[in-house]
Parts: sequence; C-alpha cells; structure tokens
Amino acid sequence: MADIIRLLPDHVANQIAAGEVVQRPASVVKELLENAIDAKATEIKLIVKGGGKTLIQVVDNGIGMSVTDARLSFERHATSKITKAEDLFNLSTKGFRGEALASIAAIAHVELKSRTTDQEVGTHIKIEGSTIIDQDVAVVPKGTSLLVKNLFFNIPARRNFLKSDQVEFRHITDEFHRVALAHPQIGFQFYNNGGEVFNLPANDLRKRIVHIFGRKTNEKLVPVQEDTQVVKISGFILKPEFAKKSRGEQFFFANNRFIKSPYLHHAVLGAFEGLIKPGTHPGYFLCLEVDPGTIDINIHPTKTEVKFDDEHTLYAYLKSTIKHSLGQFNVIPALDFEQDPNLDTPYAYKGKAANTPHVTVNSNFNPFREVASTGKSVGAASTYTKKSSKGWENLYEGLEIATPNHKPSTISFESEHINNTIFDANKDLKDAVTPTFQLRKKYIVTTIKSGMVVINQSRAHQRVLYEKFLRNITIKEAVSQQLLFPLSLSFSKAELTILKEIKESLCAVGFVFGAIVEEAVEVKGVPVQVAESEVQMVMEQLISDFQMEISDNSFSQSDMLAKTLSKTLSVKTGEQLDEASQLALVNDLFACKETTLSPFNKRTYVTISENDIERKFI
Ligand code: ADP
Ligand code: MG
Repeated sequence: MADIIRLLPDHVANQIAAGEVVQRPASVVKELLENAIDAKATEIKLIVKGGGKTLIQVVDNGIGMSVTDARLSFERHATSKITKAEDLFNLSTKGFRGEALASIAAIAHVELKSRTTDQEVGTHIKIEGSTIIDQDVAVVPKGTSLLVKNLFFNIPARRNFLKSDQVEFRHITDEFHRVALAHPQIGFQFYNNGGEVFNLPANDLRKRIVHIFGRKTNEKLVPVQEDTQVVKISGFILKPEFAKKSRGEQFFFANNRFIKSPYLHHAVLGAFEGLIKPGTHPGYFLCLEVDPGTIDINIHPTKTEVKFDDEHTLYAYLKSTIKHSLGQFNVIPALDFEQDPNLDTPYAYKGKAANTPHVTVNSNFNPFREVASTGKSVGAASTYTKKSSKGWENLYEGLEIATPNHKPSTISFESEHINNTIFDANKDLKDAVTPTFQLRKKYIVTTIKSGMVVINQSRAHQRVLYEKFLRNITIKEAVSQQLLFPLSLSFSKAELTILKEIKESLCAVGFVFGAIVEEAVEVKGVPVQVAESEVQMVMEQLISDFQMEISDNSFSQSDMLAKTLSKTLSVKTGEQLDEASQLALVNDLFACKETTLSPFNKRTYVTISENDIERKFI
C-alpha cells in the first residue's frame, strides 16, 4: 500500500491550532493585551467594534518589533520569550507558546504596525488567512499596533456560533477586567464602537478596583497582606456583609496572571465561614506571588488553570491570612468573654446618680386563659403565630388581572362541595374548613379529597410570582409603587451596560427610572412586590444573574427576569407564615397554569393519598 501520511500545510495546521487558542473575540483580546504587557508597555489602548467580530485593535507603547521579528511573529512556535525547555519552569512573561499571532492570522484579517526605539521607521504587515498580502516600511509611533478584523471570516461555522455583539462585548469586558486588575501599574483605555468605556490611569490596586467597579466599592474593601517564605499574599477582600447571592467579583492572580482555582477558592470560603449567609459568595481580589519555579502554568492552552507545587501550604496560609484581616479590621464583631461587664461603665456616667430600675408588668397577662376559637393562649405564643415575616401576602396586591379565570383544575379540594370561595384569602379564616399547617417552616400541609398535599412553600411561591411577573411583562400592565423619595443607586460601568439592556423589561414589571448620571441610577418607582429596603439587593441580583446567564433574545430575557424576581422575592424556607398567608399561597399555586413545577423545574408539591396512609397502618 502507498504511503498515506502527509504533513499538513502550515495554514491548515494554524487553522486547527486557532480552534484551541481563539474561541471567541475575547480570546483575541486576551492574547493581544498580554503581548502588549510582555512588551513592557506602560500605556495600552483597546479598541473594539461590533462585539469584537468586526474589529479588535490593541495599541501599546512597548518595545516594538524589528522588521524580521515582525515577519516572524506570525509563524507558529515563534516566540522571543523562551529559548529552552528549562525556561518553562521560570516564566516571567504571559506568553510562551508562540501560537497566538499565528492562530489569529489564520482566521482573520490582521494588520501589524510596529517600531522599536532604535529604528527610524517601522514595519507594516497585512495578513489574511495566514497569507501575507502586503509588507512595507511605515512611519509609525514607537510600540506596536495590532488590528484584527473579520474574525473567523474563513470559518463560517465558527462565526455563526458567536453570540450577539452585546454578549461578546461582555466577554471582552470580563477579559479586560482580569488583565487590568492584574496590572494596575499600567494605564489602560478601552473604547467600544467609538465610545470610551474605561480610562484607567496607572495606579495602585485599590484605585484600580474602584475605577473599574465604581466608587461604592471603596468602602467595601478590606486589605489583605502577608509575606511568607512560600508566598506573598496581597490584595483585598470584600466585607462579609457585601457577599452576593451569585458569584460576584472573585479574582485570583498568581504572579500577575488571572487564574481560576477551586481549591484556593475553598480556602477563602473557609475563612468567611460563619460570617456570611449560606448560599452567598464572598468577593475578593487576591494576588499571590510565588517563586516562578514552583508554579506550572503549562496545563491548559487558555492558561487560567495552574498548578502550585505546595498547594496545601498555600491553602493554609491563605485561609489564616484572610481570617486575620477580617479580625484585624474589626469586621468580625468582637466578644470579649474575659472582661467583667460590670466594669464596662461609660465615662460619661461617672458621678451620675443611679436611677432605680423599674419593671413594667402586663397585669392582664394570664398564661392559663384560653381563647375560645383557636385554643391559643394569649401572650407570647399568639404573637408568634400571627407574625408574618414580611407581610408577604401584600405581594399580591395590584397584580391580579381583569379576567383571572382561576380554576383549580388539577386538584379538587375536600371542602369544595361546601363552599367554593373557601380559598379566597380575604375570607375570615375562622370559617375555613380546610386547615393548613406549616411544617418545619418549609412545607405547607393541607388536605384534599383523596388525602393530603405537602407543598414546598418557597418553590410554590416562586411559581406563583413567576407567572405573575411573566404576565406583567407580556401585557405590560405592571403596577408600580412610586417612591416618595427616589433612590439613587450606584453601579459599576459594566453593571450599567447590563442595566440599560434590560431596562425595558424592568419597566414592564414596574420599575420606574429617572436619570442615569455617571454611575448613579435614580429609581423612582418599584414593583409593588418589592420593599424599598430590598431595591438595591434585587437590582444587584438581577444584574448579576444577567451577567452570569447572558441571554441573547428578548424572549429569554423576560423569562430570566421573571425567574430572578421570583427567586429573589419568594418566601424562603425558614420563614414563618401565618394561616392567612398559607391559605393564600395554596390558593394561588393551584390557580397557576403550571402547578407541579417551580420555574426552576423543581417539584412544588407531593400528594399522599388516603390509601397510602391506610396502608401504613396495616
Ligand atoms: P508568545 O506571546 O507566546 O510569544 P505570540 O504569538 O503571542 O506568542 O507572539 C509572538 C512573538 O511576537 C512574541 O514572542 C513577541 O516577541 C512578538 N510580539 C507579539 N506582540 C508584540 C507586541 N505587542 N510588542 C512587541 N512584540 C510582540
Ligand atoms: Mg502572546
């Protein structure tokens, strides 16, 4: 048989390699920014158009390239950063593979302009799909400009796979944040479709964080600093009270390189344990500096996963350093058990005559007296059962639409034959024949003809709210409550971009916005379901959900909005509900279009038939 193995031509090999290096426009941005940093630039400009699909340009004032280097930089495995295998174990640069420019040139139209300090004139090269179109001398400033147009022009399948401009822009912004935070001492400018997004002067890390994430961030930062033989730890953590429900700002940098490390993340979580609510995530910007010989960044081509030699020690240091910072900055409320509380008299009390303490007694209180109808004792116990944690039944006010046509069709209730309006929440509860019962502040138990239902209160309420919000968005008839004093909420630039994108849907559910000035948004009205104190939390949750989940079309946008709102505003496990609220919830759940599943596809209730129960007694 004839030989059939052949070496692939370079342009094919490059295109294949490009699949690894360039997944989307943001990957190009990362590679170009890192090249500029490796070239020791002090000022870097990033220009993007059409979500990076149309144009990405990075201009730096670094060391530039000679004529030969400029030509060679587009060859695969051409790099100035390492010369021998051992260099891999002592890396101080971002790049080392020599693949990026070759890969990018294989799948886009690329234009390079570069000049070194000692050259009078620079070089200008044009490449399209690995083919050099043009090369000549040019008068250019010192440094390098790399322009990438029409990404994936020769791979339509990849190009079609790209998301909307907004989504790709968001990925680019994330990448930009990572690089800009890792190098606060470098000045960055970022333009999108002709408008300035960021202008970050060279600074220290704290100011860089504040420039990127907004002024409000400053007060949230707690410094972290520790020098040991193995690692230098520096940076900031966000105070525990600013922990977010979704993963917010979580950044690890190892030797000025953004990394992901679930293991070290766990160490941070450990340090925050007990200080943040379960289900919330702490924010951090942590820089680790280790001997380059003890870190392996060669694991993955996109290079965010790394391997440390002594991960266990790092883990321990990190955890204790953060604990120390939390304690030192008085973030943890201090309790001193050694101190005698009697000595704790304020100075101002010195010399003051002491008043006789007096006790107020409720002379009507009789723990043995019973209330005829409910059998509850008057006093402490009754206040518990009456307590509705948020008065959440008010949530429904104003939401009903004209023709609800509610009919609990899937399940027939035991009491139906007696009184059809029995589940009207406004009806006097004393008449209720079907009792409801709250189990472990998590479930609502009630009876149906064939037996009983156990309803998960949180999921059921999510379903109810979800359908109401979705209806409001679709028919645009939300009821909003005007705030007496409009709130001014501040957001980072990235958050504002998202806010502008989803503004229309937010208005549809009842938010009313005033002017957006710089980083502050004026909120004039909110949906009736949202308490004023919750506005900031709800908005932050919405924005971060959109940041994570990046949805593309308006249909899924409405769906996500309704989901997020329902999740944020629903009653939670652990909340006590009074009888009226329990009954209203049961009623509303079974009036939903879909009753069995929560918006997140979890079961809302289970039924246990009388037969099931009988069988247990045999
Ligand atoms: P790597 O960064 O892994 O070396 P690249 O393909 O990204 O590989 O770049 C190839 C080479 O081109 C680099 O090693 C560097 O010498 C040169 N180069 C790339 N970008 C720049 C720049 N902005 N300024 C100066 N030299 C650059
Ligand atoms: Mg590179």
